Amino acid sequence: MLTFTALPAFNDNYIWLIQDTQRQLCAAVDPGDAQPVLNWLAEHPQWQLTDILITHHHHDHVGGVSALKAATHARVIGPARESIPNLDLPVDEGASIELIGHTVQVFAVPGHTLGHVVFFCQTDPAQPWLLSGDTLFAGGCGRIFEGSPEQMLTSLTRLADLPDTTRVYCAHEYTLSNMRFAQAVEPNNAEIDQRLSDVRQLREQQQITLPSTIAIEKRCNPFLRCEHADVIRAAEEKAGASLDNSTAVFAVLRSWKDTF
Ligand SMILES: [Zn+2]
Repeated sequence: MLTFTALPAFNDNYIWLIQDTQRQLCAAVDPGDAQPVLNWLAEHPQWQLTDILITHHHHDHVGGVSALKAATHARVIGPARESIPNLDLPVDEGASIELIGHTVQVFAVPGHTLGHVVFFCQTDPAQPWLLSGDTLFAGGCGRIFEGSPEQMLTSLTRLADLPDTTRVYCAHEYTLSNMRFAQAVEPNNAEIDQRLSDVRQLREQQQITLPSTIAIEKRCNPFLRCEHADVIRAAEEKAGASLDNSTAVFAVLRSWKDTF
């Protein structure tokens, strides 16, 4: 059984530490800064960092890789199609890796960056989990820096098709602003109201809003709801034109959120 600890970095990043508490082995995900992980390891001297997982090449995800690798000799696993420092194991669509005794699947999810990968594990079928990087956020999705709206929507739709119980560990604490946007898109969605109020309360107490689940995201994340009538209507109103497919709806939502 694995446990997850969020190590905060920069303003709003989380470096997830995946832990096998029995064997005291752990893996760090997207260490944009080595220091939070090094501090944790210094405070937990019995633990060994075996792996560093990388979802994409942005600096706030890879900035700490070299220092962490030098200090721990952990194996660096990351996207084959991007330039990642100290990469030991390049992975791409369809790859399957062994991570502290668990089989983890790799999906290529272009959009935020072209080589972005996510990591999915269901060795415990009751509790699957997903490391979604900057592709799927709680209540939102990453900006489209390198790909097209069509690529990003295809990537997100694929993640939405994972089991409802899948816990979603993304790389940023953006949930509150995402849910404010979700409410602007769907002002008559009571589940979004409830989620916004829950998230607001957590943030007022400086608490983390993650992980989310795929079930919550399908109910509350507008970017996964481009086929719902209310979302289409809101996007059409924003665009001032009728939109005849989900990609067009998604593209309007994404550029609306960019300036929200
Ligand atoms: Zn990014």
